[in-house]
Amino acid sequence: MTAKVIDGKAYAEGLRVRIAKAVKELGAKHGLKPGLAVVLVGEDPASKVYVANKAKQTVEVGMNSWEHRLDAATSEKDLLALVDKLNNDPAVHGILVQLPLPKQIDSTKVLNTINPAKDVDGFHVVNAGKLATGQDSLVACTPVGSVMLAKDALGKLDGLEAVVIGRSNIVGKPVAQLLLQENCTVTIAHSKTKDLPGVVRRADLVIAAVGRPEMVKGDWIKPGACVIDVGINRIERDGKGKLVGDCDYASCSAVAGSITPVPGGVGPMTIACLLHNTVRAACAQKSVPVPE
Ligand code: NDP
Repeated sequence: MTAKVIDGKAYAEGLRVRIAKAVKELGAKHGLKPGLAVVLVGEDPASKVYVANKAKQTVEVGMNSWEHRLDAATSEKDLLALVDKLNNDPAVHGILVQLPLPKQIDSTKVLNTINPAKDVDGFHVVNAGKLATGQDSLVACTPVGSVMLAKDALGKLDGLEAVVIGRSNIVGKPVAQLLLQENCTVTIAHSKTKDLPGVVRRADLVIAAVGRPEMVKGDWIKPGACVIDVGINRIERDGKGKLVGDCDYASCSAVAGSITPVPGGVGPMTIACLLHNTVRAACAQKSVPVPE
């Protein structure tokens, strides 16, 4: 079997078109222009690329975008003061503090200082708690994008065996919560899981969020299963830099029914879902319905 390739780039493009339409409608009907503020501390090259892409796509869908670039030596106090200012700015509907933060700053403290209503990354403990208890909330972008792609490939997820590899607060746990909401039977695997290949072989749906290049092999995959590869790993191969996922694409795509490529799978969904969260946050703050 050769797996159907799940085109996250195309899906994300479609989502951005729908978001641009919604933004236009909010302007016309309610005089509302959603706005996203992104804060970058330091010079991490990958973070700089992410932040630039976020700003570009925010403007492309017609929203306001603000970038706050702070020196790597910025104190926690100064960063918290900026977050507080953004919390109190009515034009700012979404706030994203790019991770990782420099060592002198407590990331959890910063994330929990963001007003939960503006927490478009969905990392605030209030939003994580609402997700865990089935209440409406802003949900982390990569998990939402991963589940959208799984639903696009499989239709209804009811009753499927899903195995999530990874239990981080930013991917593994929220993905597992979303899959539970979709009525999957969810197993969360991690570095202490015994017989990981055997656990993964049970899955109709595998979500890999490990951060280990090409760890999941084709003989771990149940024939016909859907594989959503969240991993983004930069490796050297044949003297060249290359991005690969957490799944060994060649062997997994020979067994799976559908699979996301890296790049071009989950990656593009993350920013599209961030823009969607910003629209949702703006509508909630202005008490207007989210356009269809
Ligand atoms: P973390 O490092 O925070 O978490 C990794 C998880 O994988 C942990 O729960 C860890 O287990 C588990 N793990 C590590 N090694 C093994 C192993 N050998 N066997 C089984 N489980 C293992 O990573 P993130 O969740 O932040 O990210 C995961 C991947 O997703 C990365 O490649 C990252 O680049 C990518 N990513 C992609 C995004 C996108 O936009 N597409 C966004 C965010 C992340 P334990 O808890 O026991 O240590």
